[in-house]
Amino acid sequence: MIRLQDVGKIYRSKRGEVEAVANVDLTIERGEIFGIIGYSGAGKSTLIRLLNMLEAPTSGSIQIDGVEMTTLRPKELRGVRKNVSMVFQHFNLLWSRTVEENIMFPLELGGYPKARRKERVAELIQLVGLDGREGAYPSQLSGGQKQRVGIARALASNPDVLLCDEATSALDPKTTDSILELLVDINKKLKLTIVLITHEMHVIQKICHRVAVMEAGKIVEQGPVSEVFRHP
Ligand code: ADP
Ligand code: ADP
Repeated sequence: MIRLQDVGKIYRSKRGEVEAVANVDLTIERGEIFGIIGYSGAGKSTLIRLLNMLEAPTSGSIQIDGVEMTTLRPKELRGVRKNVSMVFQHFNLLWSRTVEENIMFPLELGGYPKARRKERVAELIQLVGLDGREGAYPSQLSGGQKQRVGIARALASNPDVLLCDEATSALDPKTTDSILELLVDINKKLKLTIVLITHEMHVIQKICHRVAVMEAGKIVEQGPVSEVFRHP
């Protein structure tokens, strides 16, 4: 469903050029959990911003469900973007709003019918296991709970694709596992495609079906996790 062909991204500034992503070929199937792993500076964040259409590639083709993204008009892009949501390492919550208000936010922006917003938020709160915390502020939540809010907010627009940018990297190992279990749960329940980037092998091994390894902007290896990380 997501197909990248010979994708490249060069950042240009007064100080020169940085080739952040080069010659990337990638196909991510609908409903799969796909991991992208690599060291800091490998180009993972750039790749995820390309998938999210926050950045345009310098070269190559990006197709989602057969539609070429690189030639869409801004108005068409806005429609497609709703279908791709994002979860962040540092949660990016609104600190002056409650759990409920944070999750409601994209529904307000997206013009979701007012009469059904509360009900939709309640459904999302249940889905991510935050029952009873509706009125809490982010500062009153644990890291894992904050990320549950981040995930619920990302799911509010009912996307087909969830992009997770180091979504568990700020969490302790036990909390990481509980968030990964939640991702597996929503992958199954909602038939959601999940693309996650991480520098942690453990995350990939625990939940990903397939993985791509990035180094210096390029994908150096990709395939089923059991093959890419098999023991010699
Ligand atoms: P990762 O997420 O794997 O750490 P990034 O995609 O953030 O990798 O970065 C890849 C390369 O692109 C790095 O050399 C980084 O310094 C550079 N880079 C990232 N964003 C920008 C930008 N906005 N302008 C210029 N260079 C950038
Ligand atoms: P870090 O680089 O520390 O892991 P994040 O990955 O959470 O931080 O996000 C980096 C920055 O990029 C954030 O400040 C966020 O505002 C911005 N950003 C990245 N993707 C998006 C997006 N889809 N929508 C809004 N902001 C974004």
